[in-house]
Amino acid sequence: MGELERLMEGNKRFTEGTLAPKDVKARRNETRDSQAPFVSVVTCSDSRVSPEFIFDQGIGDVFVVRNAGNVMDKITLGSIEYGTEHLHTPLLVVMGHEKCGAVTAACKGGECPPNIAAIMKKLRGPVKRGAGDIEKSATANIKAVIREIRRKSEIVKRLESEGKLKIVGMKYFLADGRVEVVG
Ligand SMILES: [Zn+2]
Repeated sequence: MGELERLMEGNKRFTEGTLAPKDVKARRNETRDSQAPFVSVVTCSDSRVSPEFIFDQGIGDVFVVRNAGNVMDKITLGSIEYGTEHLHTPLLVVMGHEKCGAVTAACKGGECPPNIAAIMKKLRGPVKRGAGDIEKSATANIKAVIREIRRKSEIVKRLESEGKLKIVGMKYFLADGRVEVVG
C-alpha cells in the first residue's frame, strides 16, 4: 500500500470511528532506538487536528511539524527537511483545516501582540487570495505553504525532482473528520 493510500485508509477508519487496534507497548519497544516514519505532516496546532488520530496511525509513524496556522519559517522548514531528508519520509502532507482560529484572526485583522503578529503576517497573502473568506483563505494558505516550501528548501526541491518525495495538500473538516486533497 502506498503512503497516501495508507493515510486515506486510516482517515476512513477515523471518520467511521473504528480505529485499528494498537499494541502501544510493543510499538514503543520497536521504536525505542530509532524511528522510521512514513510521512511528514505539517499542520495547525489546533487541539482538534491531531494527525495521528485523523489518520489513525501509531507511535513512530508520523513526523509532525505543527504551529498555529501551519505557517513557515526557518525552523519549520528545517523540521520538514529533517523529516524528508534525514528520516526519508517519501510523503509530505501540508494539512490546513476548517474553521482555523489563526486564519479567522488574520481575516478579521486588527492589532495583536508581536509574536502572534508574526503568524498574522504570514497569513496576509493567503487572506488576500481568499478575498477575506475564512475557508477560501485557509485553502489558499495550504497552497501558499507548499509553494513556499518548494521555493525555500533546496533539499525538498531536490528530493522531489529525484522522485524521492511527493507533496500533497489536504484540508481537514472538523465535524465529520474527513480530509480532502486540495493540491
Ligand atoms: Zn488552525
